[in-house]
Amino acid sequence: MAQGKNQLLRGLRAHLEYHKLLGIPNYPRTEELLSFLKKQPINLSPLPQIDKLEPRYKPEPEAPPPEIDEPTVPPGAIAEEVKNCKACALHLERIYPVPGQGRDKVRLMIVGDWLAADSKGELPPDHVFGVQQDAMLGKMLEAINLPRQEVFITNVIKCGVKYNSQPQAVHVQTCVSFLRRQIASIKPDLICTMGMVAVRAILEKSQPLSRLRSHFHDYSPQKSLIIPVLATYHPTYLLQNPEMKRATWADLQMLAKKLGLQIRV
Ligand code: SF4
Repeated sequence: MAQGKNQLLRGLRAHLEYHKLLGIPNYPRTEELLSFLKKQPINLSPLPQIDKLEPRYKPEPEAPPPEIDEPTVPPGAIAEEVKNCKACALHLERIYPVPGQGRDKVRLMIVGDWLAADSKGELPPDHVFGVQQDAMLGKMLEAINLPRQEVFITNVIKCGVKYNSQPQAVHVQTCVSFLRRQIASIKPDLICTMGMVAVRAILEKSQPLSRLRSHFHDYSPQKSLIIPVLATYHPTYLLQNPEMKRATWADLQMLAKKLGLQIRV
């Protein structure tokens, strides 16, 4: 009995040490945060299988952001292009196009991986990350006191696809130009990527998400324009791994601070 208790305490201590390494010094408790941290039943589309998209992680030095000079095209015109796009094979599996949701000028742009139907094949209209995922994202924004109208939410892959569809590197390479032009047009103060595909598509780095998160990177869509990028976990991952919500909360606190938002901790 005593041995089992010691084991439990050792495990708990190791868990707390791990959270410290992730940059979580304490656990604030507000209503919004508790709502975000609460466990929920899950019925989700599959997680991105990044190993199929990218080679396995190889350590590499931090490179400067790639020099790109994207044209400024109104987001509405880009959305029209997305609706009719047949540039890659995913258009054959498209349930509906997902150019993104939000105003043309916002403070924060949130970029996820892709939208897919759930395991029952259902994909109600007007979602960006998924039914439960969008609800979780709403709680995240409430927790940092950021009004929804200050946010543009989109994905790297602009087609909402069937359950079990697994976008490949070639689809990301084809589709990412829509995202790059959206960023150049919207010019948000800050970009938050959610998920591995999103951060890799924007920063063109191959490190794992656990190394890319918790600090700001620079992204330059046009000359003389540099936008800070913060990477964190995708709501799909958080619904399947609720213990990682606390690490995500640490990222959201950084994001709120950078945007000058007042949050209760
Ligand atoms: Fe076009 Fe992107 Fe859809 Fe491929 S995934 S068809 S590039 S919108």
